[in-house]
Amino acid sequence: MKWLDLLREGATRAADKAQRTVEVTRITALIAGKRKQIRNVMRQIGASVYNAYKNGDFTASALEVVRLSAQIEAMEREIGNFELELQRLNREKTCACGKVVPYNARFCPDCGKQFETSPETISGAMEVEGRLRCVKCDADLEADYRFCLRCGSDQSVPSGQ
Ligand SMILES: [Zn+2]
Ligand SMILES: [Zn+2]
Repeated sequence: MKWLDLLREGATRAADKAQRTVEVTRITALIAGKRKQIRNVMRQIGASVYNAYKNGDFTASALEVVRLSAQIEAMEREIGNFELELQRLNREKTCACGKVVPYNARFCPDCGKQFETSPETISGAMEVEGRLRCVKCDADLEADYRFCLRCGSDQSVPSGQ
């Protein structure tokens, strides 16, 4: 029966969304933990440099500072990976220009760049309030989008011109 399939599909999607919410919470906490660790290591670096100043000898401290800085670098990389994971869970991706866009966008709505991986369709259910529509292809857009994320057309040009 068709309606039963639809019901099942809806339930699966709701469960999927709940699962994603749990994951987002977990990863957000991991990122916060890493940021705190980084602040601690920053303090250690500061203390090391100040001690070196007091002792009038920076040579011993220099090695420690390099070691601690490398730790921070590694943690920043981990945070970067967590943030990518968050974007995946939130169905988003970041353009080279820095704009965060829906993961299935073909074009950046801010700079107009075309993404290399272009999925088949822009989902009709993008959960966006107060929608605008593309002047050309009728895709749902947000108010601050300069370019359509489906066809890439410039939204500052009125339709029919
Ligand atoms: Zn862009
Ligand atoms: Zn369009």
